[in-house]
Amino acid sequence: MDRLPIFLRLQDKPCLVIGGGIVAERKVRLLRRTGASISVLAPSVTKSLHDQIDQRLVTYLPGQYSSAGVADFWLIIAATDDAAFNRQIAADAEAAGKFCNVVDDNAGSTFILPAIVDRSPLIVAIGTEGNAPVLAQQLKNRIEAWIPERIGELATQAGRWRQLVKKRFTSTRERRRFWQRFFTGPIAAHLLAGRHSAADKAMRKELVGDVPTSIESRGEAWIVGAGPGDPGLVTLRAQQLIGQADVVLYDRLISKPVLDFARKEAELIPVGKRAGSQSMSQQDINQLLVKLVQEGNRVCRLKGGDPFVFGRGGEEALALAHAGLPFQIVPGISAALGCAAYAGIPLTLRGVSSSVTLATAKLADDIGPNWPQLLKSGHTLALYMGVASIADLRQQLSDANVAPDLPVAIVENGTTRQQRTILSSAAAMEDDAMNANIVSPAIVFVGESIRAAEHLQWFDGQAVNGDVVLDDLHTSHIDYLQLIETG
Ligand code: SAH
Repeated sequence: MDRLPIFLRLQDKPCLVIGGGIVAERKVRLLRRTGASISVLAPSVTKSLHDQIDQRLVTYLPGQYSSAGVADFWLIIAATDDAAFNRQIAADAEAAGKFCNVVDDNAGSTFILPAIVDRSPLIVAIGTEGNAPVLAQQLKNRIEAWIPERIGELATQAGRWRQLVKKRFTSTRERRRFWQRFFTGPIAAHLLAGRHSAADKAMRKELVGDVPTSIESRGEAWIVGAGPGDPGLVTLRAQQLIGQADVVLYDRLISKPVLDFARKEAELIPVGKRAGSQSMSQQDINQLLVKLVQEGNRVCRLKGGDPFVFGRGGEEALALAHAGLPFQIVPGISAALGCAAYAGIPLTLRGVSSSVTLATAKLADDIGPNWPQLLKSGHTLALYMGVASIADLRQQLSDANVAPDLPVAIVENGTTRQQRTILSSAAAMEDDAMNANIVSPAIVFVGESIRAAEHLQWFDGQAVNGDVVLDDLHTSHIDYLQLIETG
């Protein structure tokens, strides 16, 4: 970060704009929104500036620019069309210890003006350190479209009620929970719809009577699926709950952009199993979860894919249920669904495959001894945790006499930028996996519908390599590419 975004109170503070053209006029208009006391120094000014000077909304400084003059102002904006003169002003401001913005000169400015979404008192300021003003402008437009019109009123009302809420809820945790409910609950809905009296009434109800401490301070667990890797595949519900948690217990496969949804005060605890290294046993994880909830925490137990598909979420939910603790379960996009979509493998396909099994490579244990029959009658298998057992799997397929050319696909790091897809066959899968040096996490698909994948390769994880902004925005690949194209 090259520059610190701050919100300046400029009410009645002397600010100087040097230049009288259209650019200067725009800067004056912006400064006027803050109630700053603005002086304009220029040999001639636009019609609009002229009017504002006439109406005494802006002060006109007659005469020549002098270096010493800048010392009287808080902020200086150099908006002339003479680059050398602008630089001179910036140097004078620097010498006088004043902040100066030079239009169209990022390097020469000690402050720059962000793109602004103004829903006062809610303000969003967007900057790119001068690198890509058009990108900032586009983001601004998207945020404008996304933020409800009346959100500013919501912030104003919250400000009005702050002290009362503080009095009623004495602990910071209770207060935070109250505000979390406030901004997502019926009171906010009333305010956003302009129903002020209904909002007032609902708020009064919240603020009188006894605080139901047992509910307010009660912990809860959320067992949440985070999807297979692409942060764009995290559900809205998951995103909300990650953002509300006091503690996040997360698995190894959870990516950083997903963890970034957490509050900055939240405690993040990795509990994932790491190949080779000692990790927490499932029992320890269950116990930790129960303990944290009993202590009153709101715990987000974050798992890759879906928590109830080979995720042991069932065991954790049972541990909570046994302890009599409240919990919620949020489904996620399981690896089989995510990887199939991103590898162009229709799990069912009319006339080709009409059923799907999610299993681990221990096939007979998982789906019974008759599984080879399934494969011969239009079926797709999705096998989790397959890497170490690919040799086994090839042997099992061979023993079951499935056709040697029955299609097999191996998807490694599916839905992420590192995704690799190997299209192979029952006979060749072991060699192909070895040659490609397939590593965990990978999923193996078996079935005729995989043939379609040859025509359905739409996702190229490598193609978006290096798009740092992607992670920062938590937006999907396609979305980001569109943004670039229209820019
Ligand atoms: N609950 C998870 C599965 C956990 S088991 C879910 O619903 O997806 C872990 C196994 O899932 C891995 O060994 C691998 O087979 C599969 N897996 C998870 N993420 C994957 C990914 N991004 N690409 C390929 N396979 C993945």
